[in-house]
Amino acid sequence: MRAQTKRKLGKFMLHNWGYIVLIVVAIWWHLGTIGPLPIAIGSSLVVIFALFCAEVPCCAPNKRLVNGEIDFCGNNGNGILGACHLKRHKWLNLKSLVSRQTYVRSLKHCVSSFSGAAGSFSALAGLGSFTVALLTYLFVTTKK
Ligand SMILES: [Zn+2]
Repeated sequence: MRAQTKRKLGKFMLHNWGYIVLIVVAIWWHLGTIGPLPIAIGSSLVVIFALFCAEVPCCAPNKRLVNGEIDFCGNNGNGILGACHLKRHKWLNLKSLVSRQTYVRSLKHCVSSFSGAAGSFSALAGLGSFTVALLTYLFVTTKK
């Protein structure tokens, strides 16, 4: 029982540690006493987490069409770019995200679940936070 709880917690941490980092980064921004460099590092970790670790729906399209629409893989993937456990889907997922014809539908599929929306939000928040922190570091901190 205890080992099972531990394993569950480990799995939970594997798919959610980035959200904890995101909260820490948000607190750092709020406090304003932490330099921009740790914030930039924390933010880049959040982006890496969202792209490769967060539990988000796999965006690889299935070959079959359902009601004339693309049907997406129903599995959960590791991160927005990671796709699910199927090797074939890693490539299909990436392809559907960069293809102009399918990326809007893929992203819609990705944010259709709560975990997908949370993962996508983290990616954007992390990217924004990283950019601002880096600019602050380059133009404010180094000019003092
Ligand atoms: Zn898949």
